[in-house]
Amino acid sequence: MAQVRKDSRGRGMVVIDAEECKGCGLCVEVCPPAVLKISEALNRMGYHPAEYIGVACTGCGVCFYVCPEPAAITVYKRVESKMPVAEAAA
Ligand code: SF4
Ligand code: SF4
Repeated sequence: MAQVRKDSRGRGMVVIDAEECKGCGLCVEVCPPAVLKISEALNRMGYHPAEYIGVACTGCGVCFYVCPEPAAITVYKRVESKMPVAEAAA
């Protein structure tokens, strides 16, 4: 199921399931850094799906919240660890 998840890969990342997308373009319109576009390819249902250009997603989640297709978009957002990176050996 598509959702907003916390993840540690970069600031953010979005994955769009092309076969769930209906190509409405809402996510493309609202994405603040404009990192989504409509593909020239068609999915199996005959829609041009949205796709991520591959860089600069902030993980804001706006695309997820506007998408009318519940399984089309998954957003990964970086989480800051409060654990020390390394501890000196005693
Ligand atoms: S999470 Fe935000 S920055 Fe990333 S693709 Fe969606 S709207 Fe754009
Ligand atoms: S909002 Fe959802 S259905 Fe519309 S283009 Fe974006 S991913 Fe596809």
